[in-house]
Amino acid sequence: MYDVIVIGGGPAGFTAGLYTSRAKLETLIIERAYFGGQMSIANQMENYPGFEGISGSLLADKMLKQAEKFGAKAILDEVVDLDLDSKIKKVITRSGTYEAKSVILCMGASPRKLGLPNEEKLTGSGVSYCATCDGAFFRDREVAVVGGGDTAAEDAIYLSRFCSKVYLIHRRDELRATKTLSDLILSNPKIIPVWNSVVEEIQGEYMVEGIRVRNIKTDDVTDIKLSGLFIAIGYMPNSQLVQGKVELTGDGYIKADENMQTNVPGVFVAGDVREKQLRQVVTAASDGAVAGSSAEQYLSKNKL
Ligand code: NAP
Repeated sequence: MYDVIVIGGGPAGFTAGLYTSRAKLETLIIERAYFGGQMSIANQMENYPGFEGISGSLLADKMLKQAEKFGAKAILDEVVDLDLDSKIKKVITRSGTYEAKSVILCMGASPRKLGLPNEEKLTGSGVSYCATCDGAFFRDREVAVVGGGDTAAEDAIYLSRFCSKVYLIHRRDELRATKTLSDLILSNPKIIPVWNSVVEEIQGEYMVEGIRVRNIKTDDVTDIKLSGLFIAIGYMPNSQLVQGKVELTGDGYIKADENMQTNVPGVFVAGDVREKQLRQVVTAASDGAVAGSSAEQYLSKNKL
């Protein structure tokens, strides 16, 4: 029996685990894929206080080690179901069932898909959701990035370092990305913005060979030959596990009060899966600290 089970091993989960293990609570962190989550694919982070520049994977490693130093146990396993109704919560994974007096939900978010017919089939064969992971495979090739936010802008700039041409396809004629990134995009001769446009088709049988793009203002359709399509159109919360078990927003984010308490006693939330304005590593860590501290107070108040 654990005092706290943290579901998700990203910055929110690691920080929650750091706070609960430091408070001498028996803590288990369960991660389904790879420790660090989305932050581990960030090439260089310049906005985490205390580090002028650090790779996401190195920062993730430091966070995990820090939590483990205070006694948190971290395992790779997939949670498939939860029973949150009783005082003792059950966390059912592929390898067994764990019990805990409290649960902190830190499942994060996953890249949003375009929803095109060939998209899934060609993922890993030219379609990618992670420029820093897959960009190097496209050296001297022509590629496209879809999206107009900070991720799309950073991806396009990153890819322009070694790809011969980078189309940036955005559904409006103005980027959502910060001015600094937008200026870098507009002054980069290798990046070709394709405004007011959406990808309508991904072409290729076994590998991406091109895309069909529709201008939504003129309805003109253009075929672009390329080898890589990087999709950066935002994220979706990984909240399927708690659908019908805790209160969610219409978009599927988990609702909580300022103490990260969900509507279910003993169940807390932290990080990108929570309803909030700013989703960054620093805000995930902040949520994790609050959730960990709230779990500690909950256990102490309820004499659990
Ligand atoms: P985002 O800000 O939500 O931007 C998503 C972009 O994709 C928007 O331009 C949106 O268009 C477009 N889009 C959404 N659905 C689409 C669809 N179905 N088809 C075509 N285009 C679609 O997502 P993000 O860029 O991943 O950023 C997420 C958060 O992380 C933001 O808060 C961002 O500031 C932050 N972030 C920060 C940094 C940094 O600080 N260095 C780096 C990366 C991300 P519209 O603009 O028309 O809505």
